[in-house]
Amino acid sequence: MTARRTVLISGAGVAGLALAHWLHRGGHAVTVVEKSGGPRDGGYPVDLRGTAVEVARRTGILPRLREAHVDLRRATFLRADGTEVASVPARAVAGGAGHLEVRRGDLTAALYAGVRDDVEFLFGDRADTLDDRAHGVDVTFRDGRRRTFDLVVGADGVHSATRGAVFGAEERFHHYLGHVFGIYTMPNTLGLSHELTMWNAPGRAAALYAAGAGDEALHAFLTFHRSTPPGAPPHREALAAVFADAGWEVPRMLDALRDADDLFVDTAGQIRMPRWSRGRVALVGDAAHAPSFLTGQGTGLALAGAYMLARALVTHTDHTAAFYVYEQGTRPYVTANQALAGGGGTTLFPSTAEALERRDTRLRSLTALPPPPAHPAYSALTLPD
Ligand SMILES: Cc1cc2nc3c(=O)[nH]c(=O)nc-3n(C[C@H](O)[C@H](O)[C@H](O)COP(=O)(O)OP(=O)(O)OC[C@H]3O[C@@H](n4cnc5c(N)ncnc54)[C@H](O)[C@@H]3O)c2cc1C
Repeated sequence: MTARRTVLISGAGVAGLALAHWLHRGGHAVTVVEKSGGPRDGGYPVDLRGTAVEVARRTGILPRLREAHVDLRRATFLRADGTEVASVPARAVAGGAGHLEVRRGDLTAALYAGVRDDVEFLFGDRADTLDDRAHGVDVTFRDGRRRTFDLVVGADGVHSATRGAVFGAEERFHHYLGHVFGIYTMPNTLGLSHELTMWNAPGRAAALYAAGAGDEALHAFLTFHRSTPPGAPPHREALAAVFADAGWEVPRMLDALRDADDLFVDTAGQIRMPRWSRGRVALVGDAAHAPSFLTGQGTGLALAGAYMLARALVTHTDHTAAFYVYEQGTRPYVTANQALAGGGGTTLFPSTAEALERRDTRLRSLTALPPPPAHPAYSALTLPD
């Protein structure tokens, strides 16, 4: 390559920051535009397994992530009346040996720290229009400024505006998986420490996750089954209404829901696209292939996909060839991990009383079984050097 390629990345989440790291390292001039005013922290703890852990190692953040590892010790499952079904060691339900679980904000902070001085960040901004021309992509930012980049990558999450602008409406690619969920933090008045407690009724689940000791806020999680997608984006009132009559700690969770300023609410769904690039624009992470929280692999796929895209761009001067190599190399891994959502979460969050009883029987047997091996999908990608 003669001149340094200029790349605009839309979104400073896990995929965007990891891509910025690897493109900068490969000699590209990188600009990241992020609609939030700064790096976004918060969010439920996220999982890294198999290939994704290897990407973290190569990125140089593994020691920091190991320190930030959420040392979950127990998972306890409750019936609708609050009585216990089973309490199992965390390793019985985690992701096998080498599994890392970190607060989402700890991961993005580690990635951001590695690139903040080398990469141009435009916070509180967004690309409003993208005009893909022979010489590059002409981009108009929100304030009307115009710049031209050799390439643009959409790393702007499951509801990607880049995807919408270049590939078409979200409905064409979004596959609803039958659940609505909300995640937020609340005071840890129960003094829970390094443990998950999940309440279930048919078609409904409420969980409290203590990622740290008893003085750290709890992650509250509510999800309910709905066979058809809600017509409008889900919101807190819809969540509250579904759980209005629930027992256990749910009334306190609903009080906290009302005041939560960090609520993340969405439907469970997957993005499935026939192609992840068009012209000079490509997609990475959830924007290209969100697998849904039901797989626990969204963050891992984002990290690995960013590595694969950067690797292809650094080793190919022709971006069309690079996008082809990125997609060919990454798609089987993505497909294998999207398949982990199986019947749309019916195993973990059963929607009928009979299915819930079957799940509970399985959970009770876990205490007597050795921890399950890591699923082969987690390592279904061998990274190029
Ligand atoms: C604040 C937050 C909390 C989250 N919490 C959870 C959680 O609790 N559980 C869970 O399963 N998943 C959560 N996620 C999603 C999870 O992080 C991703 O599924 C996964 O890490 C893949 O990351 P990604 O980088 O592809 O997408 P994301 O993590 O969604 O990152 C996308 C980034 O793009 C930015 N962005 C969006 N639109 C634009 C735009 N038009 N212009 C510029 N920037 C834009 C967003 O602000 C965000 O920083 C959360 C995401 C965010 C942003």
